[in-house]
Amino acid sequence: RAAAAREAAFRPAVTRDGHRIEVGANVRRPEEAAQALAAGAEGTGLVRSEFLFDERPHPPNEDEQFDLYRRLAEGFGGLPVVLRTLDAGGDKPLRFVRHPAEANPFLGLRGLRLSLAEPALFRAQVRAALRAARHGDIRIMLPMVDGLADLRTARDIIEQERQDLAAPPAEVGIMVEVPSAAVMADQLAGEADFFSIGTNDLTQYTLAVDRLHPTLGARSDALDPAVLRLIDMTVKAAHARGRWVGVCGNMAADPMAAPILLGLGVDELSVSIPNVAALKAQIRALAMAEAERVARLALGCATAAEVRALPALRELGHA
Ligand code: PEP
Ligand code: MG
Repeated sequence: RAAAAREAAFRPAVTRDGHRIEVGANVRRPEEAAQALAAGAEGTGLVRSEFLFDERPHPPNEDEQFDLYRRLAEGFGGLPVVLRTLDAGGDKPLRFVRHPAEANPFLGLRGLRLSLAEPALFRAQVRAALRAARHGDIRIMLPMVDGLADLRTARDIIEQERQDLAAPPAEVGIMVEVPSAAVMADQLAGEADFFSIGTNDLTQYTLAVDRLHPTLGARSDALDPAVLRLIDMTVKAAHARGRWVGVCGNMAADPMAAPILLGLGVDELSVSIPNVAALKAQIRALAMAEAERVARLALGCATAAEVRALPALRELGHA
């Protein structure tokens, strides 16, 4: 039985009617690669790089970062490693970053904005990632992108460092987790190589509910039709340009969300390691035709509660 379960974990996640969804694991450090692979992950759709350095008083230098990213690339043995550049600020302050005093840190200098304000830090990370990309399939992902201006600035910096290193080009994608990025996805898709939807922040900013709020948690549901409509727009815009779209927020691990995300056309899901096997099993039990039907019904609902009560979804929403 244990051998059979292990064998099942490694099979790809293909729906009953033949659509393959890639399933990755969200990780924080290279040591987790072996665990992720053992769980059946097909790479990592999100490396939260800020957690490599969260306890440190000093910023990591390029060589130290290179060593960590090379170990990630090698640990995943050539499978995709989506390396997110530092997503500091908001709920993830770093000791070595000079975070300004802000009344609303979630609306302040965080994510890519912070990297662009600290170009030496950003350049060191980009150089380390580009060097490590020679050892595997590293892709660079920019967090908290709010529009094209910052994406262009970041890509210019990445290209300068690439030329300086004479490194091969790496894919550069973005997190879609600020509503403006979802709304402008058609234009962003022209200049980003892939999208990964960060439903934790996308839900927070769309519904104006702090993701860590002590009492408003029940209002913060990624299955809210407002969030689903932004995901729908994002997927359509990406596919019109031939880009792939993943989801790496906690929503991807919600058994009620998986059928809807598949039905909306998402290509990849990345979840925490303990959720990988169950998600793959759930996908194998689904048919794309029924997922598409339930996604259309969900987009027409008025509230998250209505979505969760859809009889068609309740039938499919088991892990
Ligand atoms: C998200 O916002 O959904 C996400 C995946 O990133 P984080 O949770 O690290 O902000
Ligand atoms: Mg986020």
